[in-house]
Amino acid sequence: MKRTDKLLFLQPVLKDMLWGGTRLSEFGYDLPTGTVGECWGISAHPHGDCIVKNGPYRGMPLSRLYEEHRELFGNVKSDRFPLLVKIIDAKQDLSVQVHPDDEYAREHENGSLGKTECWYVLDCAADATIIIGHHAKSKAEAERMVRKGRFSEFLREIPVHKGDFFLIEPGVVHSIKGGTLILETQENSDVTYRFYDYDRVRNGVKRELHIDKSLDVITCPFKESKTKPVIKRIGASEVETLVSIPDFTVDRISVNGSVTLDSGSEFVNLSVTEGEGAIDGIPIRKGTHLIVPFGYGAYELSGNMEVFRSTVPEK
Ligand code: ZN
Repeated sequence: MKRTDKLLFLQPVLKDMLWGGTRLSEFGYDLPTGTVGECWGISAHPHGDCIVKNGPYRGMPLSRLYEEHRELFGNVKSDRFPLLVKIIDAKQDLSVQVHPDDEYAREHENGSLGKTECWYVLDCAADATIIIGHHAKSKAEAERMVRKGRFSEFLREIPVHKGDFFLIEPGVVHSIKGGTLILETQENSDVTYRFYDYDRVRNGVKRELHIDKSLDVITCPFKESKTKPVIKRIGASEVETLVSIPDFTVDRISVNGSVTLDSGSEFVNLSVTEGEGAIDGIPIRKGTHLIVPFGYGAYELSGNMEVFRSTVPEK
């Protein structure tokens, strides 16, 4: 077996969403309809389990590979594949939501995990905004504003720009608004409490809201998660660490020429979001998602590309 046969190239799962657009076609994906909202590029979630496209495990879903060949994933303790990497094309506004922390989810959602997520803005319209946090000073004030439907006063809506990065911790109210293309890295959990959907009606019905649970888990007052990117230059290339917390580390790698990186003590998720090039001589391009398995060692990225890397720190 060639060494590069060990790399796990994944078939992304495309999600049809009413708020979606057509921009995911720019990543080389065939869109089944005109309103694809999400590409789950690296996912072992039951709602979208990526299939391995090459090598000895070709045809196997990532969840099964994680179950049966844990040696490919190093020392990760999690009982399920820990991360989920998505590209989100929001043509219209997504509903306003909040996620519980692990403790609340364990108690109220059958032992599920809570969810921390982060967003990197790949592109957006000139006047695009995003919702992160709220203006209520206490839980009682949040409750009053939400129950009375005073959402424009309650929600903290801020301008957004290409290249912005946001860490969304459990308890933080958030919503991606229309005109935004985002790379999202999150814990592999789907526990979401939707508490406002702009009173939209779809096929004659409004979507279900979870007001009580949302108010339970909302952090009051809102406190912004400040992250400080750290940039490391390697030749003409650049590795920018956007966030490093116990749940995940996310780096944005600007490949210019060639850069050799070490896969370290864990497995590595890679998603190409711009340009084209190669990994150890195997061609990759905008829209490619792959996993460098545990123990692979050093890998060389070459070409002109933007690549997002996520890893789970050893616990
Ligand atoms: Zn979310």
